[in-house]
Amino acid sequence: METKEIVYEELTNRMKKGCCPICDFVEFRLAEGLVRFLEEGINTPHTRAKIEWTNGFCNFHAHRLAELGDPLSHAILYHDFMNNVMKNVPDKHSKTDHSSHKECFFCNLQKSNDEAYTKAFLEFYKVPEFQKQYEETGMLCVPHLIKIQKIRFANKKTVKQIVDTTMEKYEALNKHLSEIKRKSDYRYTDEKWTEAEKQAWKNAVDTFNSYPGISP
Ligand SMILES: [Zn+2]
Ligand SMILES: [Zn+2]
Repeated sequence: METKEIVYEELTNRMKKGCCPICDFVEFRLAEGLVRFLEEGINTPHTRAKIEWTNGFCNFHAHRLAELGDPLSHAILYHDFMNNVMKNVPDKHSKTDHSSHKECFFCNLQKSNDEAYTKAFLEFYKVPEFQKQYEETGMLCVPHLIKIQKIRFANKKTVKQIVDTTMEKYEALNKHLSEIKRKSDYRYTDEKWTEAEKQAWKNAVDTFNSYPGISP
């Protein structure tokens, strides 16, 4: 179980990178969880049973896990998965739906972290240092901003502050995007792109859509 102090530290430090601290922290914990699973989870009967029950992993997480290599762990897991396919698919009475991977182990991990960090962000925003760090360098993505807006019983004033500050940040991002458009015009192609402009179009994708595989 993570302590409040750890979450506070992590979110604050991630804001310094200029990204969405929630996306960045959820992604960090996922990457950690994938490695830990290959190191320990595969030999834990409880975890293995859960994974069999959810019929393997969703497409996104199956490929994230495969990117880490580890042929033996994959052979052990997929030997079981494929055995189940050969047992269930030809059986008309089988209730196992091999086209669905609902409740994927890593989807669940991501989901619960996402919930916790989103709520924590709103709570920490009352701390002046946290708020100041966000104003200076943070940038919530659109899906996480909307998620904060939808938190039940949230302090309306705090939410408005977060939304207003974030809109200023989006405005600044859009100025960079406008500059990219302008400088791509043949009349201005000799003007150099700034470092911020070089990053802006990628930041816009992360901001509008969240990090890959994260759908709050
Ligand atoms: Zn985000
Ligand atoms: Zn998943």
